[in-house]
Amino acid sequence: MHYDYLIAGAGLFGATVARELTDAGKKVLVVEKRNHIGGNAYTEEVDGVMVHRYGAHIFHTNDNEVWAFLNRFVTFNRYTNSPVALYRGELFSLPFNMYTFHQMWGVTRPEDARRIIAEQVKEAGIDEPSNLEEQAISLVGTDIYEKLIRGYTEKQWGRPCKELPAFIIRRLPVRFTYDNNYFNARHQGIPEEGYTVLTERLLEGSEVRLNTDYLACREELDAMADTVLFTGPIDAFFGRCFGKLEYRSLRFETELLDTDNYQGNAVVNYTDSDVPWIRSIEHKWFMFGKDRQGNDIPGTVVTKEFSVPWKDGCEPYYPVNDEKNNELYRRYRKLADGQKVLFGGRLGSYQYYDMDQVVARGLALARQLLNGSVSCADGEDPC
Ligand code: FAD
Ligand code: UDP
Repeated sequence: MHYDYLIAGAGLFGATVARELTDAGKKVLVVEKRNHIGGNAYTEEVDGVMVHRYGAHIFHTNDNEVWAFLNRFVTFNRYTNSPVALYRGELFSLPFNMYTFHQMWGVTRPEDARRIIAEQVKEAGIDEPSNLEEQAISLVGTDIYEKLIRGYTEKQWGRPCKELPAFIIRRLPVRFTYDNNYFNARHQGIPEEGYTVLTERLLEGSEVRLNTDYLACREELDAMADTVLFTGPIDAFFGRCFGKLEYRSLRFETELLDTDNYQGNAVVNYTDSDVPWIRSIEHKWFMFGKDRQGNDIPGTVVTKEFSVPWKDGCEPYYPVNDEKNNELYRRYRKLADGQKVLFGGRLGSYQYYDMDQVVARGLALARQLLNGSVSCADGEDPC
């Protein structure tokens, strides 16, 4: 059997590209090294609860095309992410908004919150923020930085905030209104049947082989297709010949608990450095405590998420986009330009992409492949 395209990785990026290519009549083979599709967005049902196996995944986007595309395959529920932060017994609303400022300082009006933040920024003497610590303080002041950002960020990234890029903290909204919605997105929700069903529908019409590591049988697989798209780590593709790109990995501890309500919210962030985990997730609240038939779920499933250093054999969840790693990535990208292979997705592009971004990029890549504007021979990188 010969295929037009071989896609290594059955995450949302690879599955989006596969959908568009099969819709255009192309023959597609998808190989996935794990024993399931869905990549890190994978969900599975445990006692009626849709469990997010690799951490909480809340879909959000401003992109109408991406939203319309995905709504062809699944119905999204109306879940709105409103995590709370727990710091040494004190509870704060997230993202940083008037509820947080009230809880932190007792203020009730935006102008008082703005005044306190301005005083703290002035005292810290920051003009041009050049790292995550300075960026955080200049956005929300030192009290919030100390209680809600420093411990959490240093646990998550395993290094001081001063050594992290400022863009990471700019992912979070700062609002002077009473609004606990974690995202500034036009559309938000979670597929009612989970992300695995979404991916299954994206992959309909493609041949999918699980438990197949592309890198372990590259020659045989390359010979089976005209064009190859690799969505795993770009440095692994090249045998890490220039050295290892850095990632952060995660460890999950999941328990089925005999209570109907453990923490009263889907996501609780532990922002204190003394608590070893970063987040605790009670999965049933992503679906309002109901199973797929609409019945109340009696028990609950809770996952604690621990951030750990990445080493060989661990899953690479987060690229560490500091200058050193970005520079190394650029060297691999240059090497990729000479290959008959395309790269994309979070790991292939070494970018901290959200799901809507990989879907948007998957749609764009498929479009370019189909209209011939990407030639794998010259290795142009549309991603
Ligand atoms: P992946 O999902 O990583 O898929 C790549 C696939 O390729 C994997 O299945 C992998 O096993 C496979 N693969 C790798 N190497 C090989 C190989 N050699 N051969 C065969 N297969 C291979 N985004 C949001 O929008 N909202 C959220 O709330 C959100 N929360 C997140 C929480 C966590 C803890 C993490 C880690 C990420 C979160 N994301 C979230 C980001 C989201 O997971 C990614 O944007 C998305 O999953 C990326 O899709 P992808 O296909 O590029 O990569
Ligand atoms: N962050 C924080 N405290 C929190 C939540 C987030 O300091 O309670 C910071 C942290 O640096 C994190 C960044 O904000 O890496 C982005 O948070 P986000 O929730 O987007 O991270 P992700 O969901 O990608 O893990």
